[in-house]
Parts: sequence; C-alpha cells; structure tokens
Amino acid sequence: MATIIKSYEPTFWDKLYIPALVKGLMVTIKHFFRRKVTVQYPDEHHIPPQGYRGLHRLNKFPEGRIKCVACEMCSAACPADCIHIIPGPSPWDEGKERYPVRFDIDLLRCIFCGFCEMACPEEAIELTEIYDFSDYTREDLIIDKDGLLEVYELTKDQNYYSRKNDSQEPQT
Ligand code: SF4
Ligand code: SF4
Repeated sequence: MATIIKSYEPTFWDKLYIPALVKGLMVTIKHFFRRKVTVQYPDEHHIPPQGYRGLHRLNKFPEGRIKCVACEMCSAACPADCIHIIPGPSPWDEGKERYPVRFDIDLLRCIFCGFCEMACPEEAIELTEIYDFSDYTREDLIIDKDGLLEVYELTKDQNYYSRKNDSQEPQT
C-alpha cells in the first residue's frame, strides 16, 4: 500500500528564521572554543597512528644487507598483483642465498591492504606512515628497489612527519 507523505508546513517561528539562525550560531560558537583539528598542510603534517598503511619500504639489517630473500610470498599474497620481483644469487657471503635483483611495486594498483607485510617470513617488507606521495606519470609511480630502500632510510626512526613538523619554519 502506498504511503502518503504530508508536505511540511512551516510554522510562524519557522517563517521568522530566527530560531534556526540562533541554533546555527550556537553550533558555530560551540566549535569555536574547541581544540582545532584542522592541519595546515603542507606547513604542518598530520601524524598518522601506529599501524598506518602508507608507502612501502624494504627493510635492512644494521650491517646494510637487505632482509628480503626474494621468496615472492608477498607477491603471491598481493590481491592487486602489483609486486614484481626478479630473484638472484645474493651478493653477500653470509646469510641467505637469494636476494631481489629487482623489486618493483606499482603504487597505482596497490590498495594498501598490508597483505604483503603479513605474508613476508623475513619481516622485509613493511608499510610506512608516508601518505603524501604523488607524481605526474604512471611510470613514476612504480617504486623500485632503490626507492623502497630509500623509504627505509627515511622512516627507520618512525619520526618522518614529526621531524618534518619540527624542521618547519615558524609562520610569519
Ligand atoms: S599493500 Fe596489498 S595491494 Fe599493496 S602491494 Fe601489498 S599486498 Fe599488494
Ligand atoms: S619481501 Fe618478504 S615475502 Fe617478499 S620476496 Fe622479500 S622476503 Fe619474500
């Protein structure tokens, strides 16, 4: 059975608009004294919570050796099929025999689900707090091994954005 919806009939007070205006102003005043949540990006950077899944990195041991052993578990677990690895014999004398000669991630395909990180048996791939990355071409948004290692250097102390905020010139 069809429902009949009565059209709204404004009352005398509604037609004055003053109660609605006062109500609106009350909301504005209430928020005026609250702590501001707006971040003045790019002068200030929001610091994401722990566990945020941003740009990937490839981890290293303190002596410089890449942790990745090119087992391709991450690429098998990736639902977006955006990790491409070419394995090869490791150049280091000690440790695991394989390492990635090539390691690319297509960031435009990636959905930042973190499955690669979960699948990795060596804790070699990790998603970082970096969220503000962009480029002009699709090709430039394929991050390679060197790029992933560079992200490691930038994020190993887990203070990427707080460092940026600290180094920001005071506003005039
Ligand atoms: S975060 Fe998800 S989609 Fe992105 S590379 Fe890892 S597994 Fe693939
Ligand atoms: S990052 Fe981890 S899962 Fe991926 S190839 Fe390297 S060791 Fe294997």
